[in-house]
Amino acid sequence: MTDNLTYIDVAVALPVYNTYTYAVPGSLLPFAAVGKRVLIPFKRRKVTGYILDINYKTDLKEIKLILDILDDEPLFPPAMIPFFIWIADYYIHPVGEVIKCALPGGLNIYDYITISISKKGKKALEKKIATTVEKEILNLLKEESFRLRDLGRKLKKETPMALLYSMKDRGWIISKRKLKGGRTRPLMERYVSLKTPCPPCERLSVQRKMIVDILKTESDISVKNLKTRVPSALRLIKPLEKTGHISIFQKRAYRDPFGDAIEADESLHLTPEQKTAVSKVADSLGKGYAAYLLAGVTGSGKTEVYMQLASKAIKKGCCVLVLIPEIALISQMERRFRARFGECVAVLHSGLSAGERYDQWLRIARKEVKIALGARSAVFSPFPDIGLIIVDEEHDTSYKQEGNLRYNARDLAVVRAKLNGAIALLGSATPSIESYYNVKAEKYTELNLKNRVEKRPLPEIKIVDLRKSRGKRGFRRFITPELYEGMNQALSHGEQVLLFLNRRGFASYPVCGICGEAVKCKNCDISLTLHRKSNAYKCHYCGFTMASASNCRSCDSNKIIQLGLGTEKVEAVVADLFPDAGIKRMDRDTTTRKGSIVKLLKDLKKGNIDILVGTQMVTKGHDFPNITLVGIICADLSLNFPDFRAGERTFQLLAQVAGRAGRGDIPGRVILQTYNPDHYSIIAARDQDFKSFYKTEIGFRKALNYPPFSRMIQLKISGKDKKMTGQHAQILGDLCRTVQVSNQYFLKTVQILGPIEASIPRIARRYRWQILLKSMGAKPLHKFIRKIMLKNNVYFNNRYIKVVVDVDPFFMM
Ligand SMILES: [Zn+2]
Ligand SMILES: [Zn+2]
Repeated sequence: MTDNLTYIDVAVALPVYNTYTYAVPGSLLPFAAVGKRVLIPFKRRKVTGYILDINYKTDLKEIKLILDILDDEPLFPPAMIPFFIWIADYYIHPVGEVIKCALPGGLNIYDYITISISKKGKKALEKKIATTVEKEILNLLKEESFRLRDLGRKLKKETPMALLYSMKDRGWIISKRKLKGGRTRPLMERYVSLKTPCPPCERLSVQRKMIVDILKTESDISVKNLKTRVPSALRLIKPLEKTGHISIFQKRAYRDPFGDAIEADESLHLTPEQKTAVSKVADSLGKGYAAYLLAGVTGSGKTEVYMQLASKAIKKGCCVLVLIPEIALISQMERRFRARFGECVAVLHSGLSAGERYDQWLRIARKEVKIALGARSAVFSPFPDIGLIIVDEEHDTSYKQEGNLRYNARDLAVVRAKLNGAIALLGSATPSIESYYNVKAEKYTELNLKNRVEKRPLPEIKIVDLRKSRGKRGFRRFITPELYEGMNQALSHGEQVLLFLNRRGFASYPVCGICGEAVKCKNCDISLTLHRKSNAYKCHYCGFTMASASNCRSCDSNKIIQLGLGTEKVEAVVADLFPDAGIKRMDRDTTTRKGSIVKLLKDLKKGNIDILVGTQMVTKGHDFPNITLVGIICADLSLNFPDFRAGERTFQLLAQVAGRAGRGDIPGRVILQTYNPDHYSIIAARDQDFKSFYKTEIGFRKALNYPPFSRMIQLKISGKDKKMTGQHAQILGDLCRTVQVSNQYFLKTVQILGPIEASIPRIARRYRWQILLKSMGAKPLHKFIRKIMLKNNVYFNNRYIKVVVDVDPFFMM
């Protein structure tokens, strides 16, 4: 009989690198399709898998049957499978986990074990025949049964599994497997429609007749909607169904992530530069893969270029993917796209509920929309045929996902365009070094927007040397006379001011006034930041908090001096200096509530805010037409990071924040305060000239053999035990060197740096070490790391030490 079975290729949502063959029983065969999830037996568990191929040929014997098919319709099209496989390969990540990561959350079913006490177990307690540990376990279970994995936490120590198995064998405890998850179900709504033929309605009441009349013009309508037109509809529909006039049924409803109604708009008149950019890209639409870098100064109208190209792509019958770095920006971009394209836009980002994301996902998979817009995870939008992928603010570091599948959505956008024969369009006022290098290498075509729209001038930027303020006291240390004057002037004209400091909190460097110890986090090797509003010291890395009244941990003195500056302090000082001004702050602390960013932006637009103080959140592409002065409180914060991209990040941040000035009718000014007025990053930001920045920076990268001249993989090693973590790092380092010296190819191509302790040696109680692998190309690195991982999997899959393989790392500290 087994000969007649159909075999499928399944990616399992577990950390395994292979795919597996399963058989589909005849009863489930009609429902099997590529892109659907299946429930499968795997070792001793039941897990979720994804169908990658059907009618799979195999010589294997004893193939297991799948248990169930979990979806009515595919979650992704077959066209995406090569993309998933590419990602699994490149980022060295199990393909099932890649797919799990790509799909909207809340979909995965997994099973877990619960344990409980049996009658025999209770007797064992009474008879006092259990050992001390056994007694502890049984006593815990007497109170309640719980998940096996919670045992260690409840017991406050590790228990050997062998002990549990033996207790189970003696019949003292019972273990059960349970299924969890997969709870996101489509939202259904009640709808009504007219029955045909409809019985006569002369004798119906006025209200009932109204309902019938409405249904005569609309084929069907939701009961919710009907209620707004006939308030008593709720109690009338049942009787109308009984008399055979209407039918009531359930219909799939989409959870709407959009707020207010949006007025339609039309294409704007393009500047000659915009026109050239649009026509160049439009000409290549539908003619296979090509990549463009749109380098447009701040305020040059990149969004209008995106929208006109999207419209052209749709006319050619292709779908469009638009990536935007941050949720805050998505709501603005969403508005503009919705105003232009109406209902055919889907939005994907982490701000949506699991249910909303699931709905948006299905709308894309079903091709009910033409445009998908979202943050980095939107690169996985399940369009079967993409014509154009736009990556706005392509330099932005939030395209890099840290944790789990460590991918860069900007890079994946280009890969996906290549695999789909589509156009990739990367846009930025401050392109990344990598992308501009690709222009120079003729991999990307450069498009320029050198002028702002409506001939608005770029802001005039003045550098102020903070070293002159070093001896000053109080606010004068960071609000220089130039900045104070500028603010006074702008406010007196009724204009708005933006103050930028890339650090939140009140004081970032609290120090004991008696013994000089810094107030540090309990779990990390990093200073705590005082947050005055919440009366607490907070750790920005692990979330640890401590009462602001705490004494010094070394000498117990209560004389803590609050050094270091944060946005909260700037806000407080400015409120003292300008008591009549409306002041608001925009950083992670003030924007945690849903909708708070939109509210801040609205208040700014309405003129309710005179001075906005913010972190890098304010730098990202926002359009504030009445801001005429931008004050950069201290430009140097990111300059001294131990990271080869520190100069690039600083330039991008400063040029972007400066670009917020003068986007309306009044020209803008920027006052840039710095301790390094001669640094090339600062000077290039003043001149808003990324090409001059590139020229200097690329020289350094070449001299030091950093990307884009080399590729890197970072091994991030961390563990709770200091000694063990260090030793593990050494073992891995030795392993790397052994593999390297045994192979001429690796000796020539791969460079191994480390292991070294990370520059933040401890975060969230984990000790951190790093090994950096460098090579001229990605291929040798991939070969090398695979060779090491395959042979020595135990060092990568260790219970006590976590080893993460970060391909093209961003967060190097
Ligand atoms: Zn002290
Ligand atoms: Zn911490």
